[in-house]
Amino acid sequence: MPDLKTVLAEITAAMRAETTRGAVADYIPELRRVPLDRFGIAVVLRDGEEVTGGDADQPFSIQSISKVFTLTLALGRAGDGLWRRVGREPSGDPFNSIVQLEHERGIPRNPFINAGAIAVTDVLMAGNRPRETLAETLRFLRFVAEDDDIAIDEAVARSERETGFLNASLANYMRAFGVVQGDVEHVLGVYFHHCAIAMSCRHLARAGRYLAFNGRIPTLGAGIINPDRARRINALMLTCGHYDGSGDFAFSVGLPGKSGVGGGVLAVAPGTASIAVWSPGLDAKGNSLLGRIALERLARAMQWSVFG
Ligand code: GLU
Repeated sequence: MPDLKTVLAEITAAMRAETTRGAVADYIPELRRVPLDRFGIAVVLRDGEEVTGGDADQPFSIQSISKVFTLTLALGRAGDGLWRRVGREPSGDPFNSIVQLEHERGIPRNPFINAGAIAVTDVLMAGNRPRETLAETLRFLRFVAEDDDIAIDEAVARSERETGFLNASLANYMRAFGVVQGDVEHVLGVYFHHCAIAMSCRHLARAGRYLAFNGRIPTLGAGIINPDRARRINALMLTCGHYDGSGDFAFSVGLPGKSGVGGGVLAVAPGTASIAVWSPGLDAKGNSLLGRIALERLARAMQWSVFG
């Protein structure tokens, strides 16, 4: 097996030199301003060893990667009853599509498209005030990432709200069908804020350990969720984690992964490693272009694909 440090150093150098980098998300100024030349990667192994490359300690907007953590928390609250309000099938549609909702009576296809994540946020709130739900989410992330400084970027949250007309449509549509049950403005407020959490690759990779290691963080001796639930979240990340690019990600990388429009990707090699990569340039489907390429190289070099 090649040496992980050498592999990450090679990948980082290659990604830094890459000239085709995709395009940064431009729907809000805070993301539009992020320099395209950034690249970071972090890998955390079972024994706690952390191997990093590039801008691994620079926080970025995790955006839709937050949906993995809100799903984890909402399942903790509602159990499998959550699946009455959200499906588990890949959508084959862009992240903010409203088309399927009409055909499927307001039930979103999966928890990782925007509609699904908004419904999950509603389940997570269940009678709580927005501030309490956000505090719970931050508390969880700070614990699993072992970093008390993880915070919400308020400027990003504000811009998300100012431009979030489609998300508001999705939420209202689901409210009409009783899939969203709480106050639509509150649910949207929490959704926009959890998307606006900023984290570094190192902290994101730490946060993903419970998914990589059967629901546990081995070095903390902490059980976060049961192994069945971790396995199922991983399955959803593999099938739905990259919107309508999920099939291609599984084909080329072969690991469960969740992307965000900030250019981050959280990926897990079950039993072996939790991985986070960040390159803000996106491909046509809104997934990090170099993030996928870096993960493809890493999975191949270390033979980490779940498909053998
Ligand atoms: N906050 C973004 C939105 O709802 C998240 C999209 C993403 O990361 O894919 O539009």
